[in-house]
Amino acid sequence: MKLKERLKKDFRLWARSLSDLFLKRECVCCGRQLESFESGVCTFCLAELPSSYTWVSGESPADKTFWGRTSIEKVTSLFLYNGKYRNLVYSIKYGGNIRLGIRLGRMLGEVIAEEDIDYIVPVPLHPRKKRKRGYNQSEVIGRGMLLALKENNPAVKMETGLLERKNFTPTQTRKDRADRWTNVRNAFRVNMKRAVKLSENGRVPKILILDDVLTTGATLDACATLLHEAVSCRISIATLAYVP
Ligand SMILES: [Zn+2]
Repeated sequence: MKLKERLKKDFRLWARSLSDLFLKRECVCCGRQLESFESGVCTFCLAELPSSYTWVSGESPADKTFWGRTSIEKVTSLFLYNGKYRNLVYSIKYGGNIRLGIRLGRMLGEVIAEEDIDYIVPVPLHPRKKRKRGYNQSEVIGRGMLLALKENNPAVKMETGLLERKNFTPTQTRKDRADRWTNVRNAFRVNMKRAVKLSENGRVPKILILDDVLTTGATLDACATLLHEAVSCRISIATLAYVP
């Protein structure tokens, strides 16, 4: 290790030990005091992460969410969204815990490291919401995923300009499920300039749409449908958590 890198690492450890003295660092899941080598979530909670195992079986409940809808090759979620583990998503989404987002994103990336992904496309936030929050949590998770995926495939990229969020407020009066799914579709659009670039030279890119949580699947279905309409591509989906 170069001297400069070693000094940088020493400084980081020193700074963290110092902050431990003054700030109580707690596990976002169980509240246990974190050791200096732990970040965001403790080793115990991480070891018991309720795996959704969606990547083991080709017919997982997560995959079934999209049956009869858009063509999706594979749906992968890292863990089940229940109990104290909901705090992981909450902390990344609303608590500004960027480091935790990158770390869990990397774990999600390791699970699908064998998949031949060309582009990671995070579900966009409305620009106003992004400005207010300061970041898009799906992009943060994507940064972690890239770290894992690039080990097998250095060419993989994150494409944040392909999908855009429109200024749209869904009506609350329509309760019908089909209506709700159509409403969500109206919230997004595809940037055609970018879409054309993706399929240059007649190639069919493999796109991974990325979101924090898979609930009804309406948002992800809307994004996938619009992308399929705009460009010839293959699509997979990944989320940190899956609501069982
Ligand atoms: Zn814990």
